[in-house]
Amino acid sequence: MEINFDGNHENKRRLLVLDDDNDVAATICMMAETAGYEIDHTDDAEVFLAKVIAWSPTHVAVDLQLADQDGVEVLHKLAGINFEAAVIVISGLGRRILNSSARVATENGLQVTGILPKPISRTDLLTVLATDVRPPSPRSEFSSKASHLPVTPERLTDALHCGEFVAYFQPKVTCANGELAGFESLARWPQKDGSMIAPDLFIGVAEQTGLIHDLTRQIYDYALSNLPDLARVSGLKFALNLSPVNLNDETFPHWLVNKCDAYGVMPSQVVLELTETASINNPLSLLEKLTQFRIRGFHLSIDDFGVGYSSLVQLARLPFSELKIDQMFVKTLSESEESRKIVSAIVGLSNSLDLKVVAEGVEDEWALDFLRDIGCDEAQGYFIAKPMDKLAAIAWKDALWVNTT
Ligand code: C2E
Ligand code: CA
Ligand code: CA
Repeated sequence: MEINFDGNHENKRRLLVLDDDNDVAATICMMAETAGYEIDHTDDAEVFLAKVIAWSPTHVAVDLQLADQDGVEVLHKLAGINFEAAVIVISGLGRRILNSSARVATENGLQVTGILPKPISRTDLLTVLATDVRPPSPRSEFSSKASHLPVTPERLTDALHCGEFVAYFQPKVTCANGELAGFESLARWPQKDGSMIAPDLFIGVAEQTGLIHDLTRQIYDYALSNLPDLARVSGLKFALNLSPVNLNDETFPHWLVNKCDAYGVMPSQVVLELTETASINNPLSLLEKLTQFRIRGFHLSIDDFGVGYSSLVQLARLPFSELKIDQMFVKTLSESEESRKIVSAIVGLSNSLDLKVVAEGVEDEWALDFLRDIGCDEAQGYFIAKPMDKLAAIAWKDALWVNTT
């Protein structure tokens, strides 16, 4: 692996260590020096921060347990000065505390390339030093600069009236062979200036106001009308997101069957992805509603599994046919041992319950390889493709087939 070099000292790798145990700091420095690093160390947090600014190290190693200072506070200050190089967290504390401290750093925007429990082995240190800072995460398709008017019920009503809502399509592939497995439909609200409003900004308002019923119908109509072009080949699945509020609409299952019929779509091609079903407090009525969809031939997926309300009881008792692992664990596979353990456990659980398992948020090749090795069925994420409009999705699918056939 190559190491990224920052700052103005071309081609020099510089490690700065903060540890109140001078012997440990000196040992780390000695090991790093043999690996070609320029090195420096201190036991004082203020001196450390001053050196970070003056010396621009490419790597810092921070001990969390400092005599009269707080390592977490130091991480916080590093984040405050927008430190962009590699951060290595070291400590004699248990791995769980190390992991959560590393998470403090990551969530503050620092790039943690390694966690080193004491006593530090030379091999571990050299491995961590050879770990590259990650390239910036693939950018969201929504511009953070877009300044949209607030989403009010009135605006939503008008937009529904004018039929403004559309769907984008994101491919899912089979982990074992990389072949296209299907698409997920994701709601989009195009604006006159060419920008898009993200679903997170309007689905909640629609749920609170009851407009979600019309909105779901509009998006499903758009998505299903495009299904024949996108999934003409049999076996491809089409995933549609369903809000728990939609389950209160008793006419919906019937409407969906008729829509599928009108567009020549088989219900067995359709996967309904549901989140937060445990927030529904009547388990019998939930069971009845979900079973209605299954009897009609639709597949059901439990979305965002592993966070929020999803639970093992739901998995065992409700008629789900698929489980989607939340992207929070998938995005961090390459850097977090904890995420790897959680994802492996969820894949094992799904296999033993005979559920198809899909990982979303696959942002790098490492994650895709790992998922294939542990027996995950399908993968979805920016590394494979971002959500696309219908024409781009059709072109993407055609190009994939040209390359794989
Ligand atoms: P979701 O169902 O979990 O969909 C996945 C979200 O993650 C999508 O965001 C997708 O664009 C994004 N994503 C996919 N791959 C990656 C990746 O590799 N990295 C990162 N960082 N993100 C990735 P989007 O389109 O903004 O949708 C957000 C949420 O809005 C969806 O989360 C879903 O809960 C909801 N939603 C979208 N469309 C509909 C809809 O038609 N009906 C309902 N009820 N909810 C919808
Ligand atoms: Ca989904
Ligand atoms: Ca999700």
